Amino acid sequence: MKKTSTSVLPAGGALGDEPLLAVDDLHVEFVTRQGVVKAVNGVSYSLNPGETLAVLGESGSGKSVTAQAIMGILDMPPARIPRGEVRFRGTDLLRLPEEARSQVRGQRVAMIFQDALSALNPVFTVGSQIGEMFRVHRGASRRDAEKKAVELMDRVRIPGARQRVHDYPHQFSGGMRQRIMIAMSIALDPEVLIADEPTTALDVTVQAQIMELLAELQRESNMGLILITHDLGVVADVADKIAVMYGGRIVENALVHDIYRAPAHPYTKGLLDSIPRVDQKGQELYAIKGMPPNLLAMPSGCAFHPRCPYRQDNCVTEAPPLYEIGPTRSSACHYWREVLDGSHG
Ligand code: SF4
Repeated sequence: MKKTSTSVLPAGGALGDEPLLAVDDLHVEFVTRQGVVKAVNGVSYSLNPGETLAVLGESGSGKSVTAQAIMGILDMPPARIPRGEVRFRGTDLLRLPEEARSQVRGQRVAMIFQDALSALNPVFTVGSQIGEMFRVHRGASRRDAEKKAVELMDRVRIPGARQRVHDYPHQFSGGMRQRIMIAMSIALDPEVLIADEPTTALDVTVQAQIMELLAELQRESNMGLILITHDLGVVADVADKIAVMYGGRIVENALVHDIYRAPAHPYTKGLLDSIPRVDQKGQELYAIKGMPPNLLAMPSGCAFHPRCPYRQDNCVTEAPPLYEIGPTRSSACHYWREVLDGSHG
């Protein structure tokens, strides 16, 4: 099977000090009739081969918009990127011409979307949709593409792949459809896989199976995995590090075990306290009070202050920087020490 295009980016190999993927001071805005919505405000994070980064936050926090900027699938306009870089193997994807960008998209950096049913075409068999990746990008014959589709369906543990390759999306359960989406996204052996709420529409058991599958595929291929989620509970066992987003900014960066041991931002603490626990059966579940901020009218000072149990007077006027509180940890809270100590201000 031959490749149909030559990549403009360096193939694998040593990365030196440069991470596999680095988002650096990214800003994304949307121009709307009501005004300019600053959806992403100076977000930075990085990912190395074999690493899993969970990007966590409520809807509107900017986590999916950041992913869409990485993939180059934002509608521009109304979106615009006034500042920032998205470096893949040291090359800034934002500065690449569209043709070069499209060689990276789907082939070297791939994405799984949350709604598998609407992402799959109902009038084509799943085999032809998975196989299309090989026909379009690798010049495979129809027969070879189908063979590859069966292999991939096996790889994502779809039972009876050889028979089911001719079935249509509606003949599969939600969990199986998500596996088909995963098969399509890993078809070309991407180096980075971005999974945007991959388990949201699924029940808890299927959620766990999909997360386990993603972790297994990652171990097999050493790809970098970005898991975008609003649910801290689903990433506990699979993520290496976590970036928590609120109001378009990162408010806490940490290794996963540090976050679970002691969060350093009140918002992260609220998310952790909202996870149902088996030893608290019958007790009312904690919920963070209030609503996510309106991006057109952001609160002054710290954007989290209207909802924050640790708030002090200066929080209303002074926006906290992202304080470095350790080699692998940062928190955008003036009172991160108090939060770490677990004492309310
Ligand atoms: Fe809460 Fe103040 Fe910290 Fe913001 S800076 S999270 S309002 S304590």
